[in-house]
Amino acid sequence: MSARNCEVLIIGAGLAGISAARILHAAGVDVLLLDKGRSVGGRMATRRIGNGAADHGAQFFTAASPEFQRTVDGWEADGFAFLWDIGWSTGSITGNEGENHTRYAIAGGMNRLMKHLAADIPTETGVRVVAVRQAETGWEAEADSGQIYTGAGLILTAPPPQALALLEAGNVPLTAMDAENLGRIHYSPALTGIFRIEGKVTIPSPGAVHRPAEPLPWIADNQQKGVSPDETVVTINSNGDYAQRYWDAPEVEILETMKATLAHYLAPGSRVVESQVQRWRYAFPRHTHSQPTLRTSGTRPLFFAGDAFQGPLVEGAWLSGAAAAAGLLGDADFLAARQTKQ
Ligand SMILES: Cc1cc2nc3c(=O)[nH]c(=O)nc-3n(C[C@H](O)[C@H](O)[C@H](O)COP(=O)(O)OP(=O)(O)OC[C@H]3O[C@@H](n4cnc5c(N)ncnc54)[C@H](O)[C@@H]3O)c2cc1C
Repeated sequence: MSARNCEVLIIGAGLAGISAARILHAAGVDVLLLDKGRSVGGRMATRRIGNGAADHGAQFFTAASPEFQRTVDGWEADGFAFLWDIGWSTGSITGNEGENHTRYAIAGGMNRLMKHLAADIPTETGVRVVAVRQAETGWEAEADSGQIYTGAGLILTAPPPQALALLEAGNVPLTAMDAENLGRIHYSPALTGIFRIEGKVTIPSPGAVHRPAEPLPWIADNQQKGVSPDETVVTINSNGDYAQRYWDAPEVEILETMKATLAHYLAPGSRVVESQVQRWRYAFPRHTHSQPTLRTSGTRPLFFAGDAFQGPLVEGAWLSGAAAAAGLLGDADFLAARQTKQ
């Protein structure tokens, strides 16, 4: 197998990876996105079930910064993002109590946006990287198939506990400071159930209930939300404590506890006809780095990005990817290595 060469390798085709890839691609850089998943998107995930579908990772997003708001406006103009609602309450997201951020969702599901954003970018999915190593003119990544990929620069967007394992497998030395900053990033897990319903649910408009104090704080009706026009499909997300408690439990046990909650929202005569569980080991960062990206010291050009850098959630991940791309485009070592490779 001959090596596959490019100028910048990006491991992880979630929001951060795609954000970085789009900027680099637009700047004329030969970029390659690699992801172990069957599709791009990472935690911006939408799963088909029967004739329906459910967002089973990110449920909505907010835009606090003008920069991200401009991006979201573009997604809205292109027919992807829509304003789902403003405000928050424990009974429904229509309550307008407490904070009053605008909350966006994606018509047809979060993953539809991700596929659109990655459509022009050279991408290989189904590629699990097992090690990254420094090479003479940059980096090399080894996939579990044995395939080698090389690039002058590298962006790692897998959650840092996973990304650090790739560096360790490739014997890449980190400074004590970088090792400390990256090593302190941990994630909470989450368990998500999706339920196909014969009949209807009574989840109030616009299709979600948020109960922050409960172990299963989020219940959403994907039909009302515009993700599953043809069938009623409900998403239930757990908090971290629930996920830890049930992580190793059989799927049937997790589904039973979730169904007990769902029962409160089933219209008379309706029933669950199919259900699935997704286990998210790295759902939400519990600690985020203070900067939007981290350039490792004393190594070939390597930037860390993702929702663990500066701000969590969808907005943080997107802006972090953009920061990593900007960092690489201004990185003297990358520019020199890129020239050597050309
Ligand atoms: C259940 C749940 C609900 C959420 N709800 C919301 C919400 O409502 N609003 C909000 O703003 N955010 C929400 N989030 C968080 C949001 O989804 C994330 O912050 C964001 O999607 C992170 O993007 P990312 O690019 O940093 O990481 P990811 O999307 O995780 O991308 C990393 C990618 O790296 C790939 N990868 C990892 N290791 C390897 C390897 N060895 N080889 C190849 N590829 C690899 C993974 O497959 C993945 O695609 C939620 C998350 C979960 C799990």
